[in-house]
Amino acid sequence: MEAPSPPLAFRVDLHCHTGWGSGDSHTDPNVLVAQAKAFGLDGICITEHNQLWDQRKVEQLSDKHGFLVIGGIEVDTDVGHVLVYGLRAPRRFIRLPTIEELRRMVDEVGGAMVVAHPFRKRQKPPTAEFCSGVGLEFVERALELPFFDLVDGVEVQNGIAGPLERAFAGVVAGERCLPTTGGSDTHRHPEVGTTFTVFPGGIRNEQDLIDALKAGEVRGADWDAEGIPDRRHASILPRDYTGIAPG
Ligand SMILES: [Zn+2]
Ligand SMILES: [Zn+2]
Repeated sequence: MEAPSPPLAFRVDLHCHTGWGSGDSHTDPNVLVAQAKAFGLDGICITEHNQLWDQRKVEQLSDKHGFLVIGGIEVDTDVGHVLVYGLRAPRRFIRLPTIEELRRMVDEVGGAMVVAHPFRKRQKPPTAEFCSGVGLEFVERALELPFFDLVDGVEVQNGIAGPLERAFAGVVAGERCLPTTGGSDTHRHPEVGTTFTVFPGGIRNEQDLIDALKAGEVRGADWDAEGIPDRRHASILPRDYTGIAPG
């Protein structure tokens, strides 16, 4: 008998760090998944810094919790952090790639890449007035950043970014006609799902995620923007819990 197909996932956090792969996180992935469920998400994507999980571990975590878990990676490139979906190698980047090199690697495996928090370390307009004066100058300069030609999407809703940074990234993504995504950039379990990506058509697996990104059938979101009551009070463990994760 065929295994039943997994349910469609509509709200997925595409940017999560854990203690199994990011030196700056102690989060136990099991706690992360349980917390994501409690917050009402349908899936998460693990994106450790410059290293991939063994795909078997990704699948084990997903099966154990009956929850969509996808293995991605956040790569430091010459133009900043880039989230990649669909890559299986190298397990760890010893030499960090340029964004052009990364694009070639991703294209070889039919993956997708999204520039993460593009304005975290770049100059931003001082106010939310993006359509005139100094705001417009910032937009015009941002539109010329060449890496926007090399990505499939822009992480507009990054959980660590402030409202001005998100709004600015949203304007630039819109002007560049690039799809937007959202991910919490969680390093601690209560942060998971602060922001997330909506897949209006639903996804069941990594390939669906890549296809939706390439088709532009995604949007970065947070609970307010979606008009959903924020369930973030539903922390399953004390908010200062730092369970050291066994590898
Ligand atoms: Zn980052
Ligand atoms: Zn990150």
